[in-house]
Amino acid sequence: MGFRLTGRFWHSASFAFTRYGLWTFRPPTFIVLLGGPGAGKGTLAKELVPLIGLPHISTGDLFRKEVASGSALGRAVDPILRSGGLVPDEITIAVLAEELSKFRNRHGAIIDGFPRTLPQALLLDNLFAGWGQELDFSLFLDGSNKDFEVRLSGRRTCSNKECGRTYHVEFKRPRVEGVCDTCKSPLIRRDDDAPEVVGPRLEKFRANNQPIVDHHERRQCLHRIKTTNQDPEGHVLQQVLHILSKRGVRVKRAA
Ligand SMILES: [Zn+2]
Repeated sequence: MGFRLTGRFWHSASFAFTRYGLWTFRPPTFIVLLGGPGAGKGTLAKELVPLIGLPHISTGDLFRKEVASGSALGRAVDPILRSGGLVPDEITIAVLAEELSKFRNRHGAIIDGFPRTLPQALLLDNLFAGWGQELDFSLFLDGSNKDFEVRLSGRRTCSNKECGRTYHVEFKRPRVEGVCDTCKSPLIRRDDDAPEVVGPRLEKFRANNQPIVDHHERRQCLHRIKTTNQDPEGHVLQQVLHILSKRGVRVKRAA
Protein backbone atom coordinates (compact mmCIF):
# COMPACT_ATOMS: atom_id res chain seq x y z
CA MET A 1 0.00 0.00 0.00
CA GLY A 2 2.80 2.39 0.92
CA PHE A 3 4.39 1.91 -2.48
CA ARG A 4 1.09 2.40 -4.20
CA LEU A 5 0.48 5.68 -2.43
CA THR A 6 3.99 6.85 -3.23
CA GLY A 7 3.41 5.93 -6.87
CA ARG A 8 0.14 7.86 -6.84
CA PHE A 9 1.86 10.85 -5.33
CA TRP A 10 4.50 10.96 -8.04
CA HIS A 11 1.91 10.43 -10.69
CA SER A 12 -0.14 13.43 -9.47
CA ALA A 13 2.98 15.54 -8.99
CA SER A 14 4.30 14.78 -12.45
CA PHE A 15 0.92 15.49 -14.01
CA ALA A 16 0.71 18.82 -12.17
CA PHE A 17 4.12 19.64 -13.65
CA THR A 18 2.82 18.72 -17.12
CA ARG A 19 -0.42 20.68 -16.77
CA TYR A 20 0.88 23.88 -15.24
CA GLY A 21 4.40 23.78 -16.63
CA LEU A 22 4.92 21.98 -19.91
CA TRP A 23 1.48 22.65 -21.37
CA THR A 24 1.84 26.43 -20.89
CA PHE A 25 4.75 26.37 -23.29
CA ARG A 26 3.71 23.58 -25.55
CA PRO A 27 0.03 22.62 -25.50
CA PRO A 28 -0.66 18.93 -26.12
CA THR A 29 -2.33 17.65 -29.29
CA PHE A 30 -5.32 15.38 -28.74
CA ILE A 31 -6.63 13.47 -31.73
CA VAL A 32 -9.54 11.02 -31.86
CA LEU A 33 -10.14 8.60 -34.69
CA LEU A 34 -13.73 7.94 -35.73
CA GLY A 35 -14.59 5.15 -38.11
CA GLY A 36 -16.58 1.96 -38.14
CA PRO A 37 -15.46 -1.62 -38.58
CA GLY A 38 -13.26 -1.90 -41.66
CA ALA A 39 -12.53 1.84 -41.84
CA GLY A 40 -8.84 1.32 -41.07
CA LYS A 41 -8.45 3.26 -37.82
CA GLY A 42 -5.92 0.85 -36.36
CA THR A 43 -3.79 0.91 -39.51
CA LEU A 44 -3.88 4.70 -39.69
CA ALA A 45 -2.94 5.02 -36.03
CA LYS A 46 0.08 2.73 -36.45
CA GLU A 47 1.26 4.73 -39.48
CA LEU A 48 0.78 8.08 -37.72
CA VAL A 49 2.69 7.27 -34.53
CA PRO A 50 6.25 7.52 -35.93
CA LEU A 51 5.35 10.46 -38.18
CA ILE A 52 3.84 12.82 -35.62
CA GLY A 53 5.49 11.38 -32.52
CA LEU A 54 2.29 10.92 -30.52
CA PRO A 55 1.39 7.62 -28.85
CA HIS A 56 -1.55 5.52 -29.99
CA ILE A 57 -3.96 4.84 -27.14
CA SER A 58 -6.61 2.24 -27.78
CA THR A 59 -9.17 1.84 -25.01
CA GLY A 60 -9.56 -1.82 -25.99
CA ASP A 61 -5.82 -2.37 -25.45
CA LEU A 62 -5.92 -0.54 -22.12
CA PHE A 63 -8.63 -2.90 -20.84
CA ARG A 64 -6.82 -5.99 -22.14
CA LYS A 65 -3.69 -4.81 -20.30
CA GLU A 66 -5.65 -4.38 -17.06
CA VAL A 67 -7.14 -7.85 -17.40
CA ALA A 68 -3.71 -9.39 -18.07
CA SER A 69 -2.22 -7.62 -15.03
CA GLY A 70 -4.95 -9.07 -12.78
CA SER A 71 -5.63 -5.64 -11.21
CA ALA A 72 -8.92 -4.93 -9.41
CA LEU A 73 -10.09 -3.01 -12.43
CA GLY A 74 -9.05 -5.85 -14.71
CA ARG A 75 -11.05 -8.33 -12.64
CA ALA A 76 -14.07 -6.03 -12.81
CA VAL A 77 -14.03 -5.56 -16.58
CA ASP A 78 -12.99 -9.10 -17.54
CA PRO A 79 -16.51 -10.62 -17.37
CA ILE A 80 -17.95 -7.62 -19.22
CA LEU A 81 -15.44 -8.00 -22.07
CA ARG A 82 -15.91 -11.76 -22.18
CA SER A 83 -19.65 -11.47 -22.59
CA GLY A 84 -19.17 -8.90 -25.37
CA GLY A 85 -20.75 -6.19 -23.24
CA LEU A 86 -19.73 -2.56 -23.01
CA VAL A 87 -17.63 -1.27 -20.14
CA PRO A 88 -19.56 1.57 -18.41
CA ASP A 89 -18.58 5.03 -19.69
CA GLU A 90 -17.50 6.24 -16.24
CA ILE A 91 -14.95 3.44 -15.98
CA THR A 92 -13.68 3.92 -19.50
CA ILE A 93 -13.18 7.68 -19.11
CA ALA A 94 -11.40 7.14 -15.78
CA VAL A 95 -9.02 4.62 -17.34
CA LEU A 96 -8.42 6.94 -20.28
CA ALA A 97 -7.81 9.93 -17.98
CA GLU A 98 -5.29 7.93 -15.98
CA GLU A 99 -3.44 6.90 -19.14
CA LEU A 100 -3.47 10.37 -20.71
CA SER A 101 -2.07 11.92 -17.55
CA LYS A 102 1.05 9.73 -17.66
CA PHE A 103 4.27 11.59 -18.33
CA ARG A 104 4.98 9.63 -21.50
CA ASN A 105 1.74 11.03 -22.98
CA ARG A 106 2.54 14.65 -22.09
CA HIS A 107 2.52 15.81 -25.73
CA GLY A 108 -0.95 14.38 -26.40
CA ALA A 109 -2.22 11.21 -28.00
CA ILE A 110 -4.04 9.52 -30.85
CA ILE A 111 -7.13 8.03 -29.19
CA ASP A 112 -8.82 5.08 -30.85
CA GLY A 113 -11.96 3.33 -29.60
CA PHE A 114 -13.36 6.31 -27.71
CA PRO A 115 -15.75 8.08 -28.04
CA ARG A 116 -18.24 5.67 -29.59
CA THR A 117 -21.36 7.55 -28.48
CA LEU A 118 -22.36 11.17 -27.94
CA PRO A 119 -22.39 10.84 -24.12
CA GLN A 120 -18.81 9.55 -24.35
CA ALA A 121 -17.84 12.48 -26.58
CA LEU A 122 -19.25 14.86 -23.95
CA LEU A 123 -17.32 13.08 -21.18
CA LEU A 124 -14.14 13.51 -23.19
CA ASP A 125 -14.87 17.23 -23.70
CA ASN A 126 -15.31 17.58 -19.95
CA LEU A 127 -12.08 15.78 -19.22
CA PHE A 128 -10.08 18.05 -21.52
CA ALA A 129 -11.90 21.17 -20.29
CA GLY A 130 -10.96 20.23 -16.72
CA TRP A 131 -7.34 20.25 -17.84
CA GLY A 132 -7.73 23.60 -19.62
CA GLN A 133 -7.41 21.80 -22.95
CA GLU A 134 -9.65 20.68 -25.77
CA LEU A 135 -9.92 18.05 -28.44
CA ASP A 136 -7.85 19.28 -31.39
CA PHE A 137 -8.75 16.86 -34.17
CA SER A 138 -11.56 14.41 -34.78
CA LEU A 139 -10.58 12.41 -37.85
CA PHE A 140 -13.53 10.56 -39.35
CA LEU A 141 -12.65 7.81 -41.82
CA ASP A 142 -15.78 7.70 -43.90
CA GLY A 143 -16.73 5.46 -46.78
CA SER A 144 -19.63 3.50 -48.23
CA ASN A 145 -21.20 0.55 -46.44
CA LYS A 146 -20.66 -1.47 -49.59
CA ASP A 147 -16.89 -0.92 -49.53
CA PHE A 148 -16.66 -1.71 -45.82
CA GLU A 149 -18.71 -4.87 -46.30
CA VAL A 150 -16.25 -6.05 -48.96
CA ARG A 151 -13.31 -5.25 -46.67
CA LEU A 152 -14.77 -7.04 -43.66
CA SER A 153 -16.26 -10.12 -45.25
CA GLY A 154 -13.01 -10.76 -47.17
CA ARG A 155 -10.82 -10.23 -44.14
CA ARG A 156 -8.87 -13.20 -42.83
CA THR A 157 -7.11 -13.18 -39.48
CA CYS A 158 -4.15 -15.27 -38.33
CA SER A 159 -5.47 -17.88 -35.89
CA ASN A 160 -2.36 -17.44 -33.74
CA LYS A 161 -3.49 -14.82 -31.19
CA GLU A 162 0.09 -13.72 -30.49
CA CYS A 163 0.44 -12.78 -34.17
CA GLY A 164 -3.06 -11.67 -35.18
CA ARG A 165 -2.02 -10.34 -38.62
CA THR A 166 -4.87 -9.64 -40.98
CA TYR A 167 -5.14 -10.36 -44.69
CA HIS A 168 -7.76 -9.92 -47.36
CA VAL A 169 -8.85 -12.43 -49.98
CA GLU A 170 -8.71 -9.68 -52.62
CA PHE A 171 -6.60 -6.76 -51.44
CA LYS A 172 -3.93 -8.35 -49.27
CA ARG A 173 -3.43 -11.99 -50.05
CA PRO A 174 -0.97 -14.14 -48.14
CA ARG A 175 1.86 -15.74 -50.13
CA VAL A 176 0.33 -19.18 -49.54
CA GLU A 177 -3.45 -19.32 -49.54
CA GLY A 178 -4.95 -19.73 -46.06
CA VAL A 179 -1.56 -19.52 -44.30
CA CYS A 180 -0.03 -16.59 -42.37
CA ASP A 181 3.14 -15.20 -44.02
CA THR A 182 4.78 -14.46 -40.69
CA CYS A 183 4.03 -17.39 -38.43
CA LYS A 184 2.60 -20.00 -40.85
CA SER A 185 -0.54 -20.51 -38.76
CA PRO A 186 -3.86 -21.06 -40.54
CA LEU A 187 -5.97 -18.01 -41.38
CA ILE A 188 -9.56 -17.84 -40.19
CA ARG A 189 -12.54 -15.57 -40.67
CA ARG A 190 -13.54 -14.04 -37.36
CA ASP A 191 -17.19 -14.58 -36.44
CA ASP A 192 -17.93 -10.86 -36.44
CA ASP A 193 -16.58 -10.55 -40.01
CA ALA A 194 -19.18 -12.99 -41.34
CA PRO A 195 -21.29 -11.32 -44.09
CA GLU A 196 -24.58 -11.70 -42.20
CA VAL A 197 -23.35 -9.75 -39.14
CA VAL A 198 -21.30 -7.11 -40.96
CA GLY A 199 -24.38 -5.16 -42.13
CA PRO A 200 -25.91 -4.80 -38.65
CA ARG A 201 -22.47 -3.88 -37.20
CA LEU A 202 -22.11 -1.04 -39.71
CA GLU A 203 -25.66 0.18 -39.07
CA LYS A 204 -25.10 0.21 -35.34
CA PHE A 205 -21.85 2.11 -35.79
CA ARG A 206 -23.49 4.77 -37.98
CA ALA A 207 -26.40 5.28 -35.58
CA ASN A 208 -23.99 5.90 -32.68
CA ASN A 209 -21.43 7.83 -34.67
CA GLN A 210 -23.61 10.40 -36.43
CA PRO A 211 -24.37 12.42 -33.26
CA ILE A 212 -20.62 12.53 -32.50
CA VAL A 213 -19.90 13.76 -36.02
CA ASP A 214 -22.56 16.49 -35.66
CA HIS A 215 -21.16 17.49 -32.29
CA HIS A 216 -17.55 17.64 -33.49
CA GLU A 217 -18.65 19.55 -36.57
CA ARG A 218 -20.19 22.19 -34.33
CA ARG A 219 -16.99 22.23 -32.29
CA GLN A 220 -15.11 22.69 -35.60
CA CYS A 221 -12.64 19.91 -34.96
CA LEU A 222 -14.14 17.38 -37.37
CA HIS A 223 -12.25 16.35 -40.50
CA ARG A 224 -13.91 13.90 -42.82
CA ILE A 225 -11.49 11.66 -44.70
CA LYS A 226 -13.01 9.75 -47.59
CA THR A 227 -11.81 6.22 -48.07
CA THR A 228 -12.73 3.77 -50.83
CA ASN A 229 -11.54 0.34 -51.90
CA GLN A 230 -9.93 1.97 -54.95
CA ASP A 231 -7.67 4.25 -52.89
CA PRO A 232 -4.02 4.08 -53.90
CA GLU A 233 -1.71 2.91 -51.12
CA GLY A 234 -1.16 5.58 -48.46
CA HIS A 235 -4.03 7.77 -49.69
CA VAL A 236 -5.73 8.12 -46.29
CA LEU A 237 -2.43 8.77 -44.53
CA GLN A 238 -1.50 11.54 -47.01
CA GLN A 239 -4.84 13.28 -46.49
CA VAL A 240 -4.47 13.11 -42.73
CA LEU A 241 -0.88 14.40 -42.76
CA HIS A 242 -1.99 17.29 -44.95
CA ILE A 243 -4.78 18.21 -42.50
CA LEU A 244 -2.50 17.97 -39.48
CA SER A 245 0.50 19.80 -40.90
CA LYS A 246 -1.67 22.63 -42.26
CA ARG A 247 -2.83 23.17 -38.68
CA GLY A 248 0.55 23.27 -37.04
CA VAL A 249 1.25 19.63 -36.15
CA ARG A 250 4.86 18.86 -36.90
CA VAL A 251 5.33 15.86 -39.20
CA LYS A 252 8.71 14.26 -38.57
CA ARG A 253 9.53 12.98 -42.02
CA ALA A 254 7.78 12.53 -45.32
CA ALA A 255 5.67 9.38 -45.50
ZN1 LIG B 1 0.45 -15.22 -37.98
